[in-house]
Amino acid sequence: MEIKKGIAVSPGISIGKCFVIDAEDYRIPRRLIEPSQRLTETQRVRNAFKDGIEELTRLQAEQDEIGGQKIKDIFAVHLSYLRDRTLRKKITDMVNTELVTAEFAVSSTLRDIASHFTKVKDVYISERAADIYDIEHRLVGHLVGGKRQDIAALKEEAVIVARELSPTQTASFNKEYVKGIATGAGGRTSHTAIVARSLGIPAVVALEDITETVTAGDTVIIDGNRGIVIINPDDNTIEQYLEYAVEYTELEHRLDTIREKPAETRDGVRVMLMGNIEFPDEAQGVLQKGGEGIGLYRTEFLYLNRNTEPTEQEHYEAYSRTVAVFKSRPVVLRTVDLGADKYTQSRRYIREPNPFLGLRSIRFCLQNLTMFKTQLHAIMRASVLGDLKIMFPLITNLQELMQAKMILGDVMEDLDEEGVPYNKNIKVGIMVETPSAALTASMLARDSDFFSIGTNDLTQYTLAVDRGNELVSTLYSAVDPAVLRLIRTVIQDAHKAQVDVSVCGEMASEPESVMLLLGLGVRTLSIAAPMIPEIKQIIRSVTIEECNKVARKVLGMNSERQISSFLRDAVRKILPEAF
Ligand code: PEP
Ligand code: MG
Repeated sequence: MEIKKGIAVSPGISIGKCFVIDAEDYRIPRRLIEPSQRLTETQRVRNAFKDGIEELTRLQAEQDEIGGQKIKDIFAVHLSYLRDRTLRKKITDMVNTELVTAEFAVSSTLRDIASHFTKVKDVYISERAADIYDIEHRLVGHLVGGKRQDIAALKEEAVIVARELSPTQTASFNKEYVKGIATGAGGRTSHTAIVARSLGIPAVVALEDITETVTAGDTVIIDGNRGIVIINPDDNTIEQYLEYAVEYTELEHRLDTIREKPAETRDGVRVMLMGNIEFPDEAQGVLQKGGEGIGLYRTEFLYLNRNTEPTEQEHYEAYSRTVAVFKSRPVVLRTVDLGADKYTQSRRYIREPNPFLGLRSIRFCLQNLTMFKTQLHAIMRASVLGDLKIMFPLITNLQELMQAKMILGDVMEDLDEEGVPYNKNIKVGIMVETPSAALTASMLARDSDFFSIGTNDLTQYTLAVDRGNELVSTLYSAVDPAVLRLIRTVIQDAHKAQVDVSVCGEMASEPESVMLLLGLGVRTLSIAAPMIPEIKQIIRSVTIEECNKVARKVLGMNSERQISSFLRDAVRKILPEAF
């Protein structure tokens, strides 16, 4: 039995057999071989190609049975690469001349080819890089044998263990089978953590060398409440955890009973509790937990679990399904926030030196107008079905907002010409998630119908701490005095301009932060569905006067440590079961 401590990012307990998968950009180290090993290594290359061809032929036949023509075509392209003698010769030549392992020769040759593809301006050609990476992954998989597992092969309940998971990988999980997640890398607000929380899958991240400690098939306990992972637990520990799991489920059920009650403080101040979602399927879960609408729909996830861009009709269907759940209640659609850590399957290998400071979010949309307009067109078509609102991500200045609104105006004109009805008075707001937006909130307020404070990115950019990097996770805190001052500024400026302001970053779902946010003047919170009952319970247990007092005290403190321990004590008195 081995116990590992990481960061708890999604509550709950799960016990299961582990399934180990790789990061998408796992790098093979350059290892040298003796000249006498040349023959064995080149033979390993040939075998890997042979196994790859056999595997693809089998997969193709499976697609024949289920009629998957598109997937069959992709496999056919991959097969043609594997049958290409020149490619195989290039790799075996490298083994022979540079005396490197078969894995390294395969990986570096194919990555080299892929990187040439990504540099080509033609989108069709640059997107072929994804095929080459796929082939590389397959060949290396055959070379290293059973140590790697393919997520597509997961056919029974399991706990996923990985060094790192990209949002693309997490978005592709079959939720029926994935019962827990443990990763070596990551932070509390990394997108993998966010998705796990939305789906209610217990998860622990920042477990460092976890992938080296487990072997596929080991029994693993994920304690998403305490941030603990136990590998090969003894019988006593399993029994103890089964009891914890029952207790936790009971607490959840107890909290579920407040579903019908309003999120109202003891002194009668009404708070609006909304849900954050990534997929339309999650909307029902928000409603069931008592959410009053969707405060943040991360629409870019529509792009992540597929190889091609969604069509306008697919956008429209996703939005109409979500609105259908909430009818006349608000649904805030954030326009796609791609880039940084979220790439479409086809673009994920186009590397930027500093992706979080690069071509992401609204910047990416403003440079890809066809794609942006396709999404806006679909949103506007769906706008007549309910109370849809549009929210632009990562706004850093007024020009960006004006440009985005101008494009929305163009789309509205197109719809007029097409005679398609839409809501001409749709509310358009922005995410305040950069220090520049927070500092110029009073200017942005003049052209925004609402603000939603994205504390995940705001914290990252204010403190210059990567939100997904476990090496600096202790420096990442939304209750750092610097972040809190920016949050206060945004709320005050929004109130002055009479612009609605909400918080949709993970801070809003932290029990410790709720009193503080209410005390700072926030009356709308948007959070992951499973957290709604607990946060509502806290709201119903406090008065605004108590919250104001907490906020005043906190703003007088000058250390993050002092603030977080003060906030923890304050909420512990109200909801001891949460700790
Ligand atoms: C945020 O940055 O706080 C936010 C809600 O957006 P995301 O987590 O998707 O970056
Ligand atoms: Mg963000």
